[in-house]
Amino acid sequence: MKRDRLRVLLKEIADLERLTARVNMNTATPRDLAALRRSLDQVPAIRQALSDSGASLLEVLREGADELADVRALVATAISDDPPLNLTDLGAIRDGCSAELDELRSINRDAKRTIAALEARERARSGIASLRVRFNNVFGYFIEVSKANSARVPADYERRQTLANAERFSTPELKESERRILGAEDRMRELEVTIYAEVRARVAAETKRLQATARSLSTLDALAGLAQVAARRRYVKPQLHDGDEIEIRQGRHPVIEASGDAPFIPNDLYMNNSTERLLIITGPNMGGKSTILRQVALVSILAQAGSFVPAEGARLPVLDRVWTRVGASDDLARGRSTFMVEMTETASILHNATPRSLVLLDEIGRGTSTFDGLSIAWAVAEYLHDSPDHAAKTLFATHYHELTELAERLPGAQNYRIRVAEREGEVIFLYKIERGRASKSYGIEVARLAGLPPGVLARARDVLHRLERYELDVFADQVDEKTAAGGATGTSAPSQHAQNGGGLGQAARRARRRALAVQATLFDAVNESLLDELRGVELETLSDEEIRALLADIRKRIV
Ligand code: ATP
Repeated sequence: MKRDRLRVLLKEIADLERLTARVNMNTATPRDLAALRRSLDQVPAIRQALSDSGASLLEVLREGADELADVRALVATAISDDPPLNLTDLGAIRDGCSAELDELRSINRDAKRTIAALEARERARSGIASLRVRFNNVFGYFIEVSKANSARVPADYERRQTLANAERFSTPELKESERRILGAEDRMRELEVTIYAEVRARVAAETKRLQATARSLSTLDALAGLAQVAARRRYVKPQLHDGDEIEIRQGRHPVIEASGDAPFIPNDLYMNNSTERLLIITGPNMGGKSTILRQVALVSILAQAGSFVPAEGARLPVLDRVWTRVGASDDLARGRSTFMVEMTETASILHNATPRSLVLLDEIGRGTSTFDGLSIAWAVAEYLHDSPDHAAKTLFATHYHELTELAERLPGAQNYRIRVAEREGEVIFLYKIERGRASKSYGIEVARLAGLPPGVLARARDVLHRLERYELDVFADQVDEKTAAGGATGTSAPSQHAQNGGGLGQAARRARRRALAVQATLFDAVNESLLDELRGVELETLSDEEIRALLADIRKRIV
């Protein structure tokens, strides 16, 4: 109930800090001052609502929220409740604030009444029911009569302007009223500007108090917001500790669970700085890898900001930073391609992460050739695992299934995969993370969901099938570990793991096989198209000469 009450009151509060800045920069409009006052009007009730909270932070905030009764009273007496946007439009200053202004307003009102009376009188005198007194900025006040009635215009009218359908006139009496109105308005404008400037300067003099109040109220607003979400979405209080473990039970992504149509599938996650510091996460496209990465970071950040977290339970360390390498973007104007941006971000992580950091790597090395990318991803993972100064808790989502070899060898690395089920040839996303490596990425299936043309999908399945067949059968025994390792690492300095052979050798063999399979499949595809061509040739229609030319051509194109 207290939270609800506070939220209702806070809703009425404008961006006080910004309003204060505008007051100081001389750009505050009369409406800004009215908004400032309406905001301050809530403070007494807010202080009241906080008075018996029993929470020391809320007590500090209550103390910090100055009621600023003097500023409120000043603005309330000087500025109208609903002032015009621009000061020059008149009416920003409240009646009763200045005797001179009130007097001028009364003169102005009288003159306007006189004009209204004049209009009625002239209508009666001329017998023209449609006669009107009007005003514009160029001609001031004038009497307007339609063309059809111009013959009935009294003789003492002075013609001022002729339009297509109407004529405009003036009279000495109208001119006199106009002079009084415009004179009063000029003076009113001057006065309003002067009074307004004085009020604004006096409000500006209270900037420090306004800023302190703004800070207290904004903190309160943030806390009320977090509390509301925590209550509505069943967040729990995390336990922050001095150790290095991250343990999240049934964690959820706070944004996807709030905005997604389907129910969110929660997941457990455990990390520490010894046996579980590098988690390699593989799984299908659209499986939920990026989601779990961000979820862990968001839970940590929320906890550290003082919020409850979307989980059934959480034990968390204090992190110094959360580093991320996610998504693909370029910065062409500053001379950085997509891959360059990715590498720059990665470099920054490797130079700056510490054992108290959390690092999210959502794919690395995708924007370059497979071997270059895999090699970089491999080395980055090893570095984040091994470096004495920069080994950080790292979640590494990847489609380079070769990287799962790393987790088999490194003591602090573990493989996780996201589960899927297949039913009648279709993939069903389960969004559950479990230990182990994924076997495939289901990329073509996801491409189908995205709407790739059926012909393209069929061809892709065909190519995939061939690739897999070659990878498994033809080349499986042909690549020995030594050449394969050389193929993947090139001439770069071998790490301790590479010297041991181990995971790198196996991963390289898989990658090498894959590359050979690609090559072989491409040859296969070219040769197949030649065979199709041959099948289509009608031999009996060709001369010996042409047959010889055809054979020569085919021999040239066979690969
Ligand atoms: P890719 O490899 O293609 O980048 P990914 O494995 O990183 O895919 P995400 O981007 O994390 O997949 O998830 C794809 C979508 O799946 C999300 O936009 C979200 O709607 C849904 N999703 C992910 N995790 C969950 C979950 N735990 N519960 C429900 N829906 C989820």
